[in-house]
Order: sequence, then structure tokens, then C-alpha cells
Amino acid sequence: MNAPDTPFAFDAVIADKADAIEPRVIAWRRDIHENPELGNREVRTSALVARHLRELGFDEVREKVAHTGVVGVLKGGLPGPVVALRADMDALPVAEEVDVPFASEVRAQWNGQDCGVMHACGHDAHTSILMGVAEVLAGLRERIPGTVKFIFQPAEETPPIGEEGGARMMIEEGCLQNPDVGAIFGLHVTSIHQTGTIGYRSGAMMASADDFRVFVRGTQTHAAMPWRGVDPIVVSSQIVLGLQTIVSRQMNIAHEPSIVTVGVFHGGVRHNIIPDEVKLEGTIRTFDEEQREQIHGHVERITKLIAEAGGATAKVHIHRWYDVTVNHPGLTEWSVPTLQRVAGTENVKVVDKVCGAEDFSFFQKAVPGFFYFMGCTPPEKDARTAAPNHSPRFYVDEKCLKLGVKTLATLALDWLATHRE
Ligand SMILES: [Zn+2]
Ligand SMILES: [Zn+2]
Repeated sequence: MNAPDTPFAFDAVIADKADAIEPRVIAWRRDIHENPELGNREVRTSALVARHLRELGFDEVREKVAHTGVVGVLKGGLPGPVVALRADMDALPVAEEVDVPFASEVRAQWNGQDCGVMHACGHDAHTSILMGVAEVLAGLRERIPGTVKFIFQPAEETPPIGEEGGARMMIEEGCLQNPDVGAIFGLHVTSIHQTGTIGYRSGAMMASADDFRVFVRGTQTHAAMPWRGVDPIVVSSQIVLGLQTIVSRQMNIAHEPSIVTVGVFHGGVRHNIIPDEVKLEGTIRTFDEEQREQIHGHVERITKLIAEAGGATAKVHIHRWYDVTVNHPGLTEWSVPTLQRVAGTENVKVVDKVCGAEDFSFFQKAVPGFFYFMGCTPPEKDARTAAPNHSPRFYVDEKCLKLGVKTLATLALDWLATHRE
């Protein structure tokens, strides 16, 4: 039996294996949910993953990649290319408010602050789904035409201040090489879609994310004698409004939308003192790398010139976080029929762009990648009003997990079967 299987050959067996493993995927998810770990601290979670992959007889299991990441290599019994699947493992500094028996009561330090810890973005689901895929594919390995690489990634939500981590660091440490990956797939659960549905876009799907910090320096004085100093609060208020004209007046929103938000405005200690300095912080989101550069320039110029007009000075620091998540058009076109076959054509839809960001974007800069959303709001709830990802009330309908296992396993096998030399 040397003839390789066609893509369809695996559908029935994957469906059976996904059915069989569903209770264990749910159990893993509950265990990980109850024991969430913050970015770069996923010690327990990655040990669980590494043990599972070793028990399945993986050819290679690399631990401590980018601090707490795990890379597993499963070689099939037939020659062929290499495909990668990625799951993120980190939780968020959020105190859980969901009423489930396995709710998190964990607390930890995040950037020096005590906080609750919760899988409020559903990365517990992603990790358990990929553990399930690993078992399904390990059971089929003799028939697999190529190699599947499993990437369990830490710190998707960014590492703590002062640390490196996440997808970029895993790539720097060689997770896409040796053997070299030809394509990568990943998914994200989302409350804005119902369980059973899948959403995707070709090209830009999620935003770039950069943050900025501004220090506006005036001259401290008595609040009843403002003419004796320079008021950084009034100047900073004008800067906030000036920044709002970037998207509304200066960007071509017919090309792509973008966002500039000021989320922090700190200054002053007493009602009758005009302070020396105000600190502003904010975020910039774009769907186009050229617009990203334009906005950086506008933020810098508007801030400095408004400060100067008011007799103050301003320092601007912009930190680049994540690139635009861009689904490779050819790979997207290739992936959609597979998703439709597994999930049902009516359940696979092109969806709106999302202004959140993903460091899956770094994998997609290195190799063709396809990232898709999987609904996790149960039928009895309205996805339009369900608590969003990152909310303390974010809820994952566990019935979505099986679809995650089936879609990732099938995408991997279809890709290998259709990309042989
Ligand atoms: Zn998130
Ligand atoms: Zn996430």
C-alpha cells in the first residue's frame, strides 16, 4: 500500500477520530482553563503539551522555544512537504466572572500588579484543539505524505514589560526551519460568531497594532495664576483632539480603515496646581503597512507642533507591536473548499476585518499562512451581544472544539496531499 491517499480519503476517518477524542479535548480545555498562565509563564501548560506529544511518539519535541514554547514534529510514513499548525497558550490578567465549575481562581503578578488570571481570549481552546489534532494525526501517521509541525506558542498577548517572546521570538529561534515549513495554519475562537461557523478573509484580516506614549512638558504654576507657567493639561487636551483628525481628515479611509485612540491621560496631583507634565498613551491600528507609516508620522508631527504652539514641548515614543495579519490570497483560495467540506458550505463566510491584532502575522511574513475565526457562542445566545474576547464574561461553547480539530487536521492533510513534488 504505497499509493498516497487523495484529500477526501481522510474525511471519514478524521470525523470518527474527532468524535472519539472530543471528551478528552474538552477535559484538557477545562484543565487548562482552570490553571491559566500569563505570557512567558506557560510552564504547566507547555509541560502538559510536551508530555502529550512524547506519549504519541512524535519524532521530535522541542521545549523552551521562546521561553515556554513547544515545537513537535510528526513525520508521516510517506515522503512529502512540511506543514505547520499553530496554537497560542497564554492567558490574560483578567479576573474570571463566568459561572462554570472549572472557573479560574488563579492570581498572579502582571507588570508588578496583582491580578486575576483567565483564559479570556480562548487560547485554552486553541491549545486543547491542537493537542487533539496531534493525537488524530499521530493515529494516521503511516498514511501521511509528509511532515506536520505543531507549534505551541507562548505570549501571543505580548510578554511582560521588558521581556521578549511570542511568535517573533519562536521564528528567531528557528521554529519554521529544520524541517522547513511550506505553509502554516491557525485559528481563533471568537464570540462574535455562533458555534459551528467559520469566518475568514483573503488579504488583510486583522490590524497592525502599535502603541505610543507622549510626554508633554509645561511649566508648573499656581492654578490661579496660569499666565505664570505653561499648562500641559490644556495643551494635551488639544493634542488628543488633534490626533483625532488623523483618521478623519488625513487618511484615505476609502482604501483601508484605521484607528488612533488615546487610552491614558495622566497629569496633576491637586486641583489648585497646574502640573509640569502630562503623559498620554494610545494605540494605532491599521490594515496597510504604508498607512501605518503615514500615521506614525502624523502622530509625531501633530503632537510636537501643537505642543510648540502652546509653549510646551512634547516627546513621542512609538512602539511597533504586531504587523497586519494578512492571509496569503492563494492559500486562502485553496483553504476555503476544505473548510466548506468539513464545516458545511453555508457555515463558512467572508467576515468583516477585525481591529484586534495577532502575532500569527509574523509567521505569515515568513511563509504563506492562513488564519481563520471559529465561532464559540452557543445557539441559545446572541453572538451580537455575547461578551467579547478579553471580557471577564467571555464564554467558549465547548461544542466548537471538535470543529477546530476537524478543520485543522483536514487542512494539514489536504495541504500535504496536494503539495507533493
Ligand atoms: Zn486576545
Ligand atoms: Zn487571542
